[in-house]
Amino acid sequence: MNLNLIKPKVKGESDKYSWNLYKYLHKYKGNTRVYYNKSDIMSSDKDSYNKNTLRLSDILVGTPVEHEDSVIGNSLLEILRKVPSQQYWYQSALITYSDITEEFYNDYIDIGRCLIDNSHTGWLRNTDNRFTYINDNERKCNWCGIEQHREVEEVIKHVTNWI
Ligand SMILES: [Zn+2]
Repeated sequence: MNLNLIKPKVKGESDKYSWNLYKYLHKYKGNTRVYYNKSDIMSSDKDSYNKNTLRLSDILVGTPVEHEDSVIGNSLLEILRKVPSQQYWYQSALITYSDITEEFYNDYIDIGRCLIDNSHTGWLRNTDNRFTYINDNERKCNWCGIEQHREVEEVIKHVTNWI
């Protein structure tokens, strides 16, 4: 993995790519792999990696300890919030997690943080330059290329008050 490919342009600030993930991978250079939890009983398509249905809490980034079937690392969710000061031992992780390193990196290089917010609902920070507005009702994502249109929905709310 060439980290220069996913390095944000301004130090300390995420853009298409996450600064925290870049910093984490830089800090733990070496045999860092990406794993996806395949044992989740809530997921119907549990064995395969799918960039459109990826759940952050199911992704583990770390170093395998082959003879122990374990991984030393952190969850992607944790890394994205703040670069963790310590790594954890995930016992038997190699049994319940699939190695998705290649697919993940390829998709991440391609679409950046849209991989972790594919709904484009805007919970990410530093997204000022994410969209190009074609007009008042249409926009295009500069990271992954998706085009969206505005839809306004009327919501009628009933509130019961006892007064
Ligand atoms: Zn996008």
